[in-house]
Amino acid sequence: MTRRCAACNATTPSYDVNCCQNCGHQFHKPHLPLLSPNDKIDSFDGKSSKHRLKEHDKPSLSKPSLSNDDHNAKSSGPCQYKILCGEYLKSLSWNEALFDRRFNRCYCSNCYLNSWDNTLVEAGSLYVIPRGWCRFGLQVDKVRADVDHIWRDWIVTYHGTSQEAAHSIVAHRQFLIPGDKRIDGEKIAILPGHIKEKYHIYTSPTIAYSGNACYCPLTRFRSKITNKLYNARIVIQCRQKSGTFDVQQETIGAGNRRICPFIPNSQVEIFTTVRASIVPYGLLIHLAEVS
Ligand SMILES: [Zn+2]
Ligand SMILES: [Zn+2]
Repeated sequence: MTRRCAACNATTPSYDVNCCQNCGHQFHKPHLPLLSPNDKIDSFDGKSSKHRLKEHDKPSLSKPSLSNDDHNAKSSGPCQYKILCGEYLKSLSWNEALFDRRFNRCYCSNCYLNSWDNTLVEAGSLYVIPRGWCRFGLQVDKVRADVDHIWRDWIVTYHGTSQEAAHSIVAHRQFLIPGDKRIDGEKIAILPGHIKEKYHIYTSPTIAYSGNACYCPLTRFRSKITNKLYNARIVIQCRQKSGTFDVQQETIGAGNRRICPFIPNSQVEIFTTVRASIVPYGLLIHLAEVS
């Protein structure tokens, strides 16, 4: 018997698969737990898919999903912001094999409503929802995920960096520590202004900190869709192993200015020397129109 995907009508394999190989649509499963509004997934091209994972960060293949919406985002059409972010991502010409579109997720105010949670707890640790950013899912090594139970036991963190460094991390399949050499022989430098002689990887539970211009240099992007100019930033969303890092106060000279409404300045910076303790699973993009 031919099975067809309810979302795109493509023929799907008759063997047991949980999502459409063509569009990523999650097939219906019985006995569903209640889902949080944070769990909707979207396709790469901005077409809204009407189903969610139990937890948006978990691999969908083992997770049930709903095909009937019990919440509604403001607009049912494709998200223009997501399309724009997709256009920017395409302009970077990264290899598409690096991505897993099942975990795409837009956090703009139309897709992730103001009334929804600002923070979530994963593996007992609070992290801040990246409002205003759009995530493009990255391929995650299944062995790492299974052996280390990263979706269950590891916390969610952010790492803000330049376009080039982000590509290096994602394409190398690992974080490099300042002083390491990349495949092309280039040495990883410590960005000016950072703490000298400290060869750590820095992350944060809040994108308000990781997305700071100290970490994320702005790049200009002109959209062919809108013909407008944007400042683009990139942040990598990660799973990070508990107990392998230290937490400290901000190091960007914020002083009394509160960086994030949810995480105090004294706890916004996480640092580690353990490369293998951080697994990137999403590329977050932020575009701000240049007036
Ligand atoms: Zn499909
Ligand atoms: Zn959106």
